[in-house]
Amino acid sequence: MRIKQKGKCLRRIATGLSLAIMVFGASSGCGGGSMQPQRKQTVLDTDFDDAKVGARESQNMAASMGIIEDPELNEYLNAIGKRMIPFAPRRPFKYTFQIVDQASPNAFALPGGHIYVSRGLMTLVNTEDELACVIGHEITHAAERHAAARQEFNRRINPFSMGYLRAGQLAAYGRDQERDADRGGQILAAKAGWNPSGMATFMQDLGAMDRLSIGWSRLPGFFDSHPSSPERAATASTRGQNLAWVPRPHIAGTHLDFLDKLAGLTVGEDPKEGIFEKTRFLHLDMDFSLRFPDNWRLINDRDVVGAIAPGQKAFIALRIEGPGDDPQAMAKKVIETELFQARAKIHSEMPVQVGQYPGYRLDAQVSAARTSVSMTFIAYKGYIFRIDTVSRTGQLNQYLGRGRAVARSFRPLTTQEKSLFELVELEIVEARGNESLAQLSARTNNKIDLGTTAVLNDLFIDSRLTSGQPIKIGKGRPYRPEEAPEVPEALNESLEKTSPTANP
Ligand SMILES: [Zn+2]
Repeated sequence: MRIKQKGKCLRRIATGLSLAIMVFGASSGCGGGSMQPQRKQTVLDTDFDDAKVGARESQNMAASMGIIEDPELNEYLNAIGKRMIPFAPRRPFKYTFQIVDQASPNAFALPGGHIYVSRGLMTLVNTEDELACVIGHEITHAAERHAAARQEFNRRINPFSMGYLRAGQLAAYGRDQERDADRGGQILAAKAGWNPSGMATFMQDLGAMDRLSIGWSRLPGFFDSHPSSPERAATASTRGQNLAWVPRPHIAGTHLDFLDKLAGLTVGEDPKEGIFEKTRFLHLDMDFSLRFPDNWRLINDRDVVGAIAPGQKAFIALRIEGPGDDPQAMAKKVIETELFQARAKIHSEMPVQVGQYPGYRLDAQVSAARTSVSMTFIAYKGYIFRIDTVSRTGQLNQYLGRGRAVARSFRPLTTQEKSLFELVELEIVEARGNESLAQLSARTNNKIDLGTTAVLNDLFIDSRLTSGQPIKIGKGRPYRPEEAPEVPEALNESLEKTSPTANP
């Protein structure tokens, strides 16, 4: 969660209702037009529709997820992508390749050739061949217009969902399309001179990472709604061995040059967005913490932090609604804007005391989405925090107790909690002859656990290292709170043109 300190930016904060669309999803059958009939549909009839929709959604994506601004690394990613484009079906797309600020390994393609890999994926890849295969996979989704083939699915995306949530739905492909993209990606990589077996080795790392990182929040993308990684890895391995290819020099140069390009990437959660300590969320810049229910799936994205109940039957989300010290006034504003647009019916509203802080609570129902919400507004240190407990209409009562417990757990950080904040960056170090990974970790003060370090380096925990072997580790440094950087003004304006709140 990132604080947006100027009112202008606050309008874009995704609403709890948009999260509802993500959680309850298209399977609810709630039609896109039902909540706001005038909203424009996402229709991908032609190449040019792809380009138009992709351009719009990529701006939402950039604003709500964050793009890593690393010119050298970005240029490198583009160079890899562009070497494969001539071998893909011809489209009038202007392909873009960017790194999104997401801790978990992920990659996805928006219509029109907007391709993203997460910083989590960049820290996981071990060779340029692997990276090329992943990018080739995403180019295939875009070039084969897989999103258009799923138009029926896309038509059901509720326009109320904003930013990357909608983008994420656009990037969710079917299993057959995933198999297609795996094959297409390997063929593209091979034609452009990379080893197509990179797809298989990457998928093996991914499978290992998956087993280590249960509980991470993710977007639909490379890894969701896909055939399981072991099956894909086996298929990719066989295909990799059978594809003819002529090696071309790697763009990065040597293996060490490749790893050096990745050095400096943030590993794991960015402390600026707040961190989870078990189920307690801690935010240093804003000096607060609160605790989510046990065994719920935790989410920490730029706009929202929250937890999804088992079975996706409910979720609790926290956001900073805006500057202010009057929770009732903020509630009124939400009633007049967001809830009015959703045609919500307000059932009750009242002032409440949340721990030592003044609060305000309102309960509402959105019939069109068959969703009920209980909102608690809390005034704290010049900002109004908002906690939504959201469920299907008729089921909210089961979750209200937990939602209120989350609100009551809201408090400033303890000194001990403040000491937990540390920024971890990827660093490349040289191993000593016959050193174990554990010894190297101890010697270099590696902040990444041993299991993850092994996966990041495509090694086993008990692997013996050779002298000079380059190894990825995590270098820690204390994190100091700072003012959140502002979204560039130009981007801000273009977003207001496309966001539902700015365009009623
Ligand atoms: Zn895919």
